[in-house]
Amino acid sequence: MDPATHRDDIFGQRPTRIRVDLDAISHNLRALAAHAGVPVMPIIKANAYGHGLARVGLHLQAQGAGQLGVAFLEEGIALRRAGVRLPILVMGGIFGHQAAEVIANDLEVTVSSIDKLRQVEAAAGSLGRRATVHLKIDTGMERIGVHSYHAGPFIEAALASRWCDIKGIYSHLACADDPDSPVTARQLERFLDACAHFERVGAPMPLRHLANSGGVLHFPGTHLDMVRPGIALFGVLPDAASRPTVELRPAMSLLSQVVYFKVVPAGDPVSYGATWAPATDTRVVTVPIGYGDGFPRALSSRGQVLVRGQRHAIVGRICMDQFMVDIGPDGTAYNEDEVVLIGRQGDQAIRCEDVALAAGTIPYEILVGLNGRIPREYRGG
Ligand SMILES: *Cc1c(COP(=O)(O)O)cnc(C)c1O
Repeated sequence: MDPATHRDDIFGQRPTRIRVDLDAISHNLRALAAHAGVPVMPIIKANAYGHGLARVGLHLQAQGAGQLGVAFLEEGIALRRAGVRLPILVMGGIFGHQAAEVIANDLEVTVSSIDKLRQVEAAAGSLGRRATVHLKIDTGMERIGVHSYHAGPFIEAALASRWCDIKGIYSHLACADDPDSPVTARQLERFLDACAHFERVGAPMPLRHLANSGGVLHFPGTHLDMVRPGIALFGVLPDAASRPTVELRPAMSLLSQVVYFKVVPAGDPVSYGATWAPATDTRVVTVPIGYGDGFPRALSSRGQVLVRGQRHAIVGRICMDQFMVDIGPDGTAYNEDEVVLIGRQGDQAIRCEDVALAAGTIPYEILVGLNGRIPREYRGG
């Protein structure tokens, strides 16, 4: 069994792999903490944005992170099983029947309504064990959380709770990836107004946290007492078009190898649907990764890869397990040559952000889409 994937690792022998640079994650953690000037709660939901939940969680613990955040109860439990002892906040909405399990696994819980507060309280009472909670305020996302304009009674109910310790209060930014959006300032104002209720009733202020990666990078006013970057920790920008304000290092490379070489005559189409054919005789190589690995089919005849230090176009439709690359009439490539889909080769680089732009999506979806059929290997750390 591979401890990173909890899977029998016959797949680990695939020539196609994700290489994770743990030192890049350490660097990004330090750079983001220095930029924000407040503690960082790394967010490692969705298999640590595709980088491997357990392995990244243990690495961040070793790097001195003070707290982690995940979306789901199950992710928190998986981290506990892997040996992570740090405080872990479950950020998603929890179901009533999960409340006891959150507390039993020593996870911090997001309380996003008075109803859910009651459920957590009841579960804590019956376990005889206090729950550590973060109150979730909705300041303009309309996802989960109590509307900021109804925060007063919610905060008072939480303060009155016999079984809940309020460690934090937080909200989530809807538009922080866009440095020019006016929405963020409005959300910050609503959030601070909700937090002020602690002062109004003379209660100690819990940890106030608001900033996701976009907030950390573009809106210093949102840093408050703690920040919650996810994607930036992995060296990827939330918005492919935005300019970095912190020097980040991409942690993920997506690599494969040439599995086949041929010459395609002018006019003979390549792949399903016969959507592309070369204008002149050209050399085409086949790469053994496809949309069955989560490599987006939208990159058909749009994406690029690096072979022998050169950029070449993906041609024709991406198949479930393979795709083809035109290396040109004079291109050189041999079977087993390295193919870089994301990452560096020689002096060339393909960023996750570039792949997202070509695929017509956001960098997040590229990272988390790469699935468990691709083995992860780790460097550094
Ligand atoms: C996912 C998430 C984050 C991290 O978002 P990034 O844009 O990846 O930095 C922070 N807070 C909450 C509530 C989230 O759901």
